[in-house]
Amino acid sequence: MRPRIDLDEDVVRRNARRWREHAGVPVWAVVKADGYGWGAARLMRALQDDVDGFFLADADEARRVRGFSRRPIALLAEAPIDQTATLLDDGVIPNVASLDSLVAAAGWAKRRRYPARIRVGIVPAAGWSGLLDDAIDPFARAAAALPVEIQLWTHLTAPELWVSQTEHFESARRRFEAAGARVTGVDVAGSLAAAARPRSLDSLVRIGIGLFGAFRDDLECAVRIEAPVTAVLRSDAVPSAGYRLPERVSKPWLAIVRSGYSDGLSLRLAGTNNIVSIGMQYAVLARNEPERVGQTLRLLDASSNLCMFLENTGISPHEFIVGLRHTEAERL
Ligand SMILES: *Cc1c(COP(=O)(O)O)cnc(C)c1O
Repeated sequence: MRPRIDLDEDVVRRNARRWREHAGVPVWAVVKADGYGWGAARLMRALQDDVDGFFLADADEARRVRGFSRRPIALLAEAPIDQTATLLDDGVIPNVASLDSLVAAAGWAKRRRYPARIRVGIVPAAGWSGLLDDAIDPFARAAAALPVEIQLWTHLTAPELWVSQTEHFESARRRFEAAGARVTGVDVAGSLAAAARPRSLDSLVRIGIGLFGAFRDDLECAVRIEAPVTAVLRSDAVPSAGYRLPERVSKPWLAIVRSGYSDGLSLRLAGTNNIVSIGMQYAVLARNEPERVGQTLRLLDASSNLCMFLENTGISPHEFIVGLRHTEAERL
């Protein structure tokens, strides 16, 4: 017996559309790490009509999924230089972070007699693949002389760093333009920064965890967890609830459900959301009414707020979503 842990693709699509309205610019879905553990190909098929493109981490990830979408695919991190031309041939927009890789992209463009679309990150970019400050001017000057069109980007990380990261990025952008490089677009935000900056001035936003419902109250949670009840007890009748003392239990009933670490639920959820304790395969929930053995309880569904569910646990929505052992995985 296991809990049902599923992804609702309709919710993912609705969330994508809400991001589009919120940002006012194209939404590109980040489906790295095999779609945050839920299948990159599956998310790409589901989101085909609701996003404008897809980001994968690297060339290996992009190669696996290229056939699954007509939409453009771009890379977040730098690919090996000898793969630059193949990526461009496959219609993948490479992330170019070194002069050698820039030259490889320009070589492709010259053979094709067509400018190469590339992304150039300014640190902090994915995997620290972006240009450091002293690399910006030489890179911009080299790019100005080559047939490349540049989508310049960075990654706004923690909110307390956004002001300095934005200033640094704007300075890099001015230096690219002053050098005469062709900057055709800019993007700086993942879900967290995009949530805080409605009507973005960027050319696109890169949304990953936000598709699952994180960071905005008007989104739905795309993951559903339904756990079967295996036992029901009066909370005052048990000397302890798993590893927790009973005085912590504020409700008259306890429902024992089949759901635990082995399903990807962390111990850090205990003490929140009426979860009294969690073990390998069972969790103890505090309830106002006695449940029936055999019925299922929803720990999470579309009406849940993913960030509220994880509040005070120290678990990031990324860590939570990628760590769940969903039901489909077992069927494969
Ligand atoms: C993973 C990643 C994203 C997506 O982040 P979310 O917080 O999941 O939206 C965006 N940009 C970059 C560079 C990333 O590495």
